[in-house]
Amino acid sequence: MPTAISELTTMRLGGPAREFAVATTSDELVSLVQGADASGTPVLLVGGGSNLVVGDQGFDGLVVKVETAGMRVDGNSMWVAAGERWDSVVAASLDEGLAGLETLSGIPGLAGATPVQNVGAYGTVTSDVLETLTVYDRETGETSTWTPDRCGFGLHRQSVFKHSVRYVILDTTMSLRRSTASDPVRYAGLADRLGVTIGDTVRTAEVREAVLDLRGQKGMVLDAADHDTWSVGSFFLNPVLTEIPASASRAPQYPDPSGIKVHAAWLIQNAGFPHGYGAEFGNGTVSLSTKHVLAITNRGGARTADVMALASHIRDGVKAEFGITLVPECDLVGCSLS
Ligand SMILES: Cc1cc2nc3c(=O)[nH]c(=O)nc-3n(C[C@H](O)[C@H](O)[C@H](O)COP(=O)(O)OP(=O)(O)OC[C@H]3O[C@@H](n4cnc5c(N)ncnc54)[C@H](O)[C@@H]3O)c2cc1C
Repeated sequence: MPTAISELTTMRLGGPAREFAVATTSDELVSLVQGADASGTPVLLVGGGSNLVVGDQGFDGLVVKVETAGMRVDGNSMWVAAGERWDSVVAASLDEGLAGLETLSGIPGLAGATPVQNVGAYGTVTSDVLETLTVYDRETGETSTWTPDRCGFGLHRQSVFKHSVRYVILDTTMSLRRSTASDPVRYAGLADRLGVTIGDTVRTAEVREAVLDLRGQKGMVLDAADHDTWSVGSFFLNPVLTEIPASASRAPQYPDPSGIKVHAAWLIQNAGFPHGYGAEFGNGTVSLSTKHVLAITNRGGARTADVMALASHIRDGVKAEFGITLVPECDLVGCSLS
């Protein structure tokens, strides 16, 4: 039974878990959490560990690995247990002739964590398709069915689940479309790769193939042999600002419900941090990905402290150059930027 959290996270970081358990059914998941709550033991839920950075000291409590299983299609709805691998869910939905998830192909992690930061890519976010979810509330002790309006989606990568340990997501149901034609392509890079214009539709299978290809080129599909993917994907959020400083006026910008979203990768690169930067941190064990500056990667043998040092250095450099403070997108447990 693993007690090293580094074995559970895609960054391969994190010290020992004081206690460790695997939940293979929703009842087991709830009862493990209830048991820990009754004894005052802190709980850390781990899905695919792909958005989680845990400190070198580990976690002084119970780590629960979610391994619940099950997928069911009913008409245009797809029900999925929290422990199902997200990309298997996407592939299964397309095999069933359902459209809507194709642009979310290749995102690591498990289905239960997708609402946590309203996972998104290439113009689609989880909340676009989410119909209901079953949630256990650790404060009230109740399990109930939620509709997306309770989830606090809206702001970029935010929800009531993000940075909160109150809720356990047990399963989700998505409302999809019975078709082999994709949703209209909404992202320029994807349209270019497909040789279509924005707004066109193509076969869902083609979109999936193109997305996997584009993501692979950026090290955004997990590959144990490629250290560029030993990451949490984008380490920092794209900042959303009400006013863009003059120094950052050339940065790619996108409208957002709460302001203007600025391309964090552009800020990092233009603050003087190229692909592969930072090898002097942790004696070469950490650096920016050689394919994507938004990913901080473990080159093998890294410590969380070294990742925090590099992340702090990048944040400070961007702040000095543009006056914009980058904030981590991933969850930091038992560690923080300096
Ligand atoms: C190479 C790479 C590429 C990525 N690309 C993208 C991308 O394109 N778009 C994007 O949005 N994200 C991306 N990510 C981030 C990550 O894949 C997503 O955030 C994913 O949803 C995390 O799922 P997980 O199961 O790994 O969650 P974990 O990392 O295990 O957990 C994340 C957080 O959710 C909590 N949690 C986990 N399961 C549950 C549950 N059942 N109920 C309540 N809380 C829970 C955990 O306690 C933790 O706080 C990428 C990551 C990597 C490594």
